[in-house]
Amino acid sequence: MALDPHMLRVLKEAEQMAIAEEVERKGHVMEKSWGYRLDPTRCEVCRRNTAAGWIPLHDPFPSGHQTAPAHDGCRCRTITRIRPGQR
Ligand SMILES: [Zn+2]
Repeated sequence: MALDPHMLRVLKEAEQMAIAEEVERKGHVMEKSWGYRLDPTRCEVCRRNTAAGWIPLHDPFPSGHQTAPAHDGCRCRTITRIRPGQR
């Protein structure tokens, strides 16, 4: 069975969030940011999400999404990291 590209993106993002939550369970404070792909078709929603910068892992982005993709054809991805200054 072939998954459509949008569904594959959703699954990949969910996998990344699961990894970030695993790191969180080890005692780190995690955060995320919206990484848009340089794409002339990127929409206003993605621009605003990117402008929000680094936010806590479980906070929604301005669009209300927890992770990319924000819409069909969205090529953005969610980037996660351990909050700087954490050990
Ligand atoms: Zn996007």
